[in-house]
Amino acid sequence: MAFHWRTTEPTGWGTGWLSGLLGAILGLLGLGAVLCFRFPDWLTVPEARALYPVPLVRVVLHAVLVSGFLLGVLSLTLRRNKALGTVAVAATLVAALLGGSQVPLDDELQAGPFLGLDWFLLNLIVYSAVFVPLERWFARLPAQPLFRDTWPTDFAYFFVSAILVQVTTLVTLRPAMLFFDWARLPAVQGWVQGLPWIAQFLLMVIVSDLTQYWVHRAFHSVPFLWRFHAVHHSAEQMDWLAGSRLHLVDIAVTRGLTYVPIYVLGFTEGPLVAYLIFVSAQATFIHANVRFEWRWLQWVLATPRYHHWHHAAEPEAVDSNFAVHLPLLDVLFGTAYLPERWPSAYGIAHGSRAPRGYLRQFFWPFRRG
Ligand SMILES: [Zn+2]
Ligand SMILES: [Zn+2]
Repeated sequence: MAFHWRTTEPTGWGTGWLSGLLGAILGLLGLGAVLCFRFPDWLTVPEARALYPVPLVRVVLHAVLVSGFLLGVLSLTLRRNKALGTVAVAATLVAALLGGSQVPLDDELQAGPFLGLDWFLLNLIVYSAVFVPLERWFARLPAQPLFRDTWPTDFAYFFVSAILVQVTTLVTLRPAMLFFDWARLPAVQGWVQGLPWIAQFLLMVIVSDLTQYWVHRAFHSVPFLWRFHAVHHSAEQMDWLAGSRLHLVDIAVTRGLTYVPIYVLGFTEGPLVAYLIFVSAQATFIHANVRFEWRWLQWVLATPRYHHWHHAAEPEAVDSNFAVHLPLLDVLFGTAYLPERWPSAYGIAHGSRAPRGYLRQFFWPFRRG
């Protein structure tokens, strides 16, 4: 019997590793969902509450908890290292003690400060369901494991920015509303709202990437801002999770400013929601460890190889490819760089390294002299 977090035993079929891992993931997801039921006031997004198909969620939750528990027990019997199996069994037991899939749901909810635990769980389920298989089947670097060296740090970024969704939404929307109300001209907004859905969407991609381009470029060229953005560039392995590594100040400034033209132009809700889904999916995709090149598309829409060059540690690639959506902006402003090959290494050029861990990286920009 042993208990340690480092994997030293074999991980092949029949070793209890996969069952332990799956059991732990299901157990923790299930526990998270039960906590959302138990404390919906504090842990769920008010706008999303009415949209959940609660009876269906309960059925799925029941299956998740039962299979998490059984897989945990299987891992405990097969494997000498009991860490994963214990997490799986403990998480499902705590979830059961809190009421399991039959946990009562209080209907009288108040709107106040909340953490987006439901938002985090949904993001985790959707993004890992899409990107984990994609990176396995179409890996650009097949030897790079899912649980690579610094994955806990990036996972912490993924967790924090989802759970703080109320804060990140507020810092995105508020500055525009506070300072740019005067710029909302009814004539302009009327024209924008009269445009067909797809035209609004394309216009939003163009204006937001144009803003994003210059904000991003400022983050690279103003030394004080670079301190915060260097955190994003400190990832030395690229995958879908590495894209989450963004300092909260970087998120607040970039999103806050990018939202200004969207707010001023007054787009309708449908295209706006479509754009939000598009930007988060594309921003994740361009960091992924996937080998798609799509050269026919590479100057129209940023592809993984395009943004991987933005993260390259090679000196000739520094300060290039700022666009998130439209590479033509980099061509127009003279910052495009896209050789035939993929970068040989990622990270901050000139060998500078970020400290490890979310909290150390949070304070890093404030500390450097
Ligand atoms: Zn950058
Ligand atoms: Zn990036």
